[in-house]
Amino acid sequence: MASKTQTESLTVRSRKRSDALDITDRVEQLVRESDVSDGLCHVYVPHTTAGVFINENADPDVLTDLLGTLDNLVPWEGGYRHAEGNAAAHIKSTLVGTSQTIPIREGRLQLGRWQGIFLADFDGPRERTVRVTITAG
Ligand code: ZN
Repeated sequence: MASKTQTESLTVRSRKRSDALDITDRVEQLVRESDVSDGLCHVYVPHTTAGVFINENADPDVLTDLLGTLDNLVPWEGGYRHAEGNAAAHIKSTLVGTSQTIPIREGRLQLGRWQGIFLADFDGPRERTVRVTITAG
């Protein structure tokens, strides 16, 4: 089966230790530029203390609740062994996951009406890389 794959990188800068940044428009832009009509869009962060998730981008309180609940589940100070002091960020990255895959149909990401793609930083503020791989087929 013939397929065409291309990968682009986005740079995202978080503003605080725990942060979620909407990257939907930037990912959609890459899909448009790819000229892929039907395929898959894979969004990946090559970091151990960040993640990628898909959730509501209409009401910002959803993000506040989401990050707040993760903070409650995995507090920064938790008697962890990891000497670097950011064990909570590693655990949150594992819980959230480091990639998402979104179908592309007719040149558009098949996100639901209220869905957006977010980079989650759990050890910011810092600059993060997002790799977007677009595959036709
Ligand atoms: Zn660490």
